[in-house]
Amino acid sequence: MYIIKPKGIFLSDDNNFHKGIVVTEGEKIVWVGDEEDLPSHFTEKGQLIELRDKWLLPGLVNTHVHLEFDASNDVVDNFTSSSKEELLALAQHQGEQLLYSGVTTARDAGSSWNLLELGANSPNLPRLVFCGPPVTAYNGHLFFMGCEAESTKELADAVRIHYEKGATSLKIMATGGQITPNCDPVKAAYSVEQIKTIVESAHQYNLPTLAHCLTTEGFAICSAGGVDCIEHCACFVRSKESGLLEREFIPEIFELDDKQKPLLMIGVSTCYNLLNEVRFGRREPTPLEVFKLEQERILFEIVHHLIVLGYPFVIGTDAGVWGTYFNETHLELSLMGERAGMSWQEVVRSATERGAQCLGLGDEVGIIREGYFADLIALDESPQESFNAFEKVSWVMKDGRIVKE
Ligand SMILES: [Zn+2]
Repeated sequence: MYIIKPKGIFLSDDNNFHKGIVVTEGEKIVWVGDEEDLPSHFTEKGQLIELRDKWLLPGLVNTHVHLEFDASNDVVDNFTSSSKEELLALAQHQGEQLLYSGVTTARDAGSSWNLLELGANSPNLPRLVFCGPPVTAYNGHLFFMGCEAESTKELADAVRIHYEKGATSLKIMATGGQITPNCDPVKAAYSVEQIKTIVESAHQYNLPTLAHCLTTEGFAICSAGGVDCIEHCACFVRSKESGLLEREFIPEIFELDDKQKPLLMIGVSTCYNLLNEVRFGRREPTPLEVFKLEQERILFEIVHHLIVLGYPFVIGTDAGVWGTYFNETHLELSLMGERAGMSWQEVVRSATERGAQCLGLGDEVGIIREGYFADLIALDESPQESFNAFEKVSWVMKDGRIVKE
């Protein structure tokens, strides 16, 4: 039993910090309250953890990572040429990086079937939700992971097989993608009817759905099809002049009633590091990099607009794709605050409580409350003071076990 005394505890009741004590026993939180009210039987048998200069929050939830991708320039080649053992070792290593950086729950948003062997709850890894191979059209995005399906029967069978093999979430490739060779990112992969077939089948097995979606058309199809969480929302169109992908935001498509609004995961930090050299003025940008920096600026404008429209966001980074690392979930959080204009409280909520709900774990993790799993992190600085606070996760507890101090 641990008696944790931090400087402040982030509570979901009002999304703010409060003075107090958290008591954990085994893997659960057993008491949260004011120091004066702490029952004496806890004081007698509990071990005191003094975190007097730190801020205690629920562990972070990263809803979108790829544990088998190595974040290199050759991510797809390395994935397809590695053995099962190599990929599992890589996934273990990268999962440990996630946990050490404060992510106590993560969803792998697309992998081989073998990844499920890691298990949902290994002591040195975050609590894991697995999608297994994404459901994708023939030769569609990430087809090489092993689940191409198009007819109604194929789609329903694909979902059932995922459930039987132990997947706990279901990933849909609603448009093409950039890292798959010969796959057009701006092409819709499925109709509304096909998406509905997948989503309804997944819900029969209680699998939360998420859809990779790079275009406005794809967003409209996914929201009409009832997808729980729509990812990226890049609003790409292909420029007729240059052939490059440009962002074109059509606000009307996103003006839905609150009840119809899906969860959104953007991944503003995805590939962000690739432009650091020119962003920080270490060298002159090429014309293509000037274009990409401008597209990045437009992305933040789009996300800001979606925040103003009142969309519920969750946090995901796409860690594993080009230059997107497993110890950098903090980058997504700081960019959502600093560049997209999300409030610090909404940033915390997106990265904790709402992330847990998105994964179907809302009754188990994501908030600091009696009966919840003791997945906790401590920060040296308050996120109220700086969005960079998440960079300094100095203490991590998962399932009541201290994994970093
Ligand atoms: Zn992804």
